[in-house]
Amino acid sequence: METIQRHAADFVRTRLAPASIPNDGKQTPMRGHPVFIAQHACACCCRGCLHKWYHVPVGRELTENEQERIVKLLMAWIARQLTMDAK
Ligand SMILES: [Zn+2]
Repeated sequence: METIQRHAADFVRTRLAPASIPNDGKQTPMRGHPVFIAQHACACCCRGCLHKWYHVPVGRELTENEQERIVKLLMAWIARQLTMDAK
């Protein structure tokens, strides 16, 4: 889980946080990494979805606090998936 969380923080910082993202809406693959899947499930896949679902303004950088909250949300979702799989 620690590794996944580190990846989540990386993805959020590099793919979601910048003020302008040329390929916004396409920067998160549909599969390949648990964090990608979680991003789609939680509407944290692109700035368009963050704006639509969480009213995060488009066109400005995400704050450290926002990035942390997104990572926490993604990790909570992944943890829930893992407990569901174990049942
Ligand atoms: Zn999206």
